[in-house]
Amino acid sequence: MTVPARGITGQAEIDSYVADWVELCLTLVNDLAIEARQGRQVTGDAGLGEAFAELAGNALTRQFELSLADVDDLASVARRLHIAIDACIAGDLMTAAFALNTVLAEFGAVPNLHAAPGEAPHLAFHATDAPIVDAWAAESATALAFLVGTHQTHRLGQCSAETCDAFYLDATKNASRRFCSLACQNRAKSAAYRQKRRVQPK
Ligand SMILES: [Zn+2]
Repeated sequence: MTVPARGITGQAEIDSYVADWVELCLTLVNDLAIEARQGRQVTGDAGLGEAFAELAGNALTRQFELSLADVDDLASVARRLHIAIDACIAGDLMTAAFALNTVLAEFGAVPNLHAAPGEAPHLAFHATDAPIVDAWAAESATALAFLVGTHQTHRLGQCSAETCDAFYLDATKNASRRFCSLACQNRAKSAAYRQKRRVQPK
């Protein structure tokens, strides 16, 4: 697994590197470490199989073969990334830094240039022979560390809809995003409409 090369290197490429890997990080946390999502509780016992199915169907992760044991290990990584994201949103950057530093060290995050034969080298933050869990832990923690280290943690948000703890990366210019998905935005809209009708009956 490598970071795709995107032609001429520049700020846009760095932003895009961070956004891609923060997206993977949020996929892991949202699939494996939160209690409610898009209106329903994610139950503990059925959770692993469900998470396995979600990761298997996700555009970012579906090309990789994961075992149930991998998903179990990723869930434990995701819980630690969750702590870091919570701390970022609460503005407690020292707690975020501590959580991220331990993941980076434990999973062997290391900047290096990967290159397939005949391809230009591109930057990655895991060893070329790292197992998938270590690689994703290292890249996810590195991407979050970029947000912390470049004062971009305000771009992390948590869904405002009821019964949803999902996180998102806000890419809007005025930081106006409030929901993890269109589904939650629509749920919140109909909840507000119902509430209004209760308050102002015809
Ligand atoms: Zn949501």
